[in-house]
Amino acid sequence: MNSKSSSLLLIFCIFAIISCSNSETQELQAQTKNTKNKGTKKMTVEKTEEEWKKILSPEQYRILREKGTERPWSGEYNDTKEAGAYHCAACDALLFESDTKFDSHCGWPSFYQAAAGDKVTTEVDRTHGMVRTEIMCAACGGHLGHVFDDGPKPTGLRYCVNSVSLLFKPSKK
Ligand SMILES: [Zn+2]
Repeated sequence: MNSKSSSLLLIFCIFAIISCSNSETQELQAQTKNTKNKGTKKMTVEKTEEEWKKILSPEQYRILREKGTERPWSGEYNDTKEAGAYHCAACDALLFESDTKFDSHCGWPSFYQAAAGDKVTTEVDRTHGMVRTEIMCAACGGHLGHVFDDGPKPTGLRYCVNSVSLLFKPSKK
């Protein structure tokens, strides 16, 4: 191959990469739009951002509504081993049961399973240069954390959840 054709090839490759990343962005935007529409329909607890700001603490708002993350090992429920149920800190929906919580050593409360009845929904998250699966409260859309496929049996899943997004209710003795 002569140098002229190889530089042409290089230009073509660059062009292909640029147009490819453009279409990916468009696809993602379309996806986000779709999910938003779908989310609005499915959501059982709907509030404006102003209303959420009144109900939630600034830290809860940052994580639940702005998809933030609490510092690892800082969360209130990281080491909680008591029997009980973990509810959504925003809308009180039941999300996780204590018998599915396990010690993941990742710095956030981790569960291998969400509570029965599609309480937790997922969405592809491509932020921070990673492709992860975001988990959200199905009732209010509040951001909980992410789910990974390196969890223990029987599901092999690890629901990695911000303590701030949760409200623990110990079972009555
Ligand atoms: Zn919720």
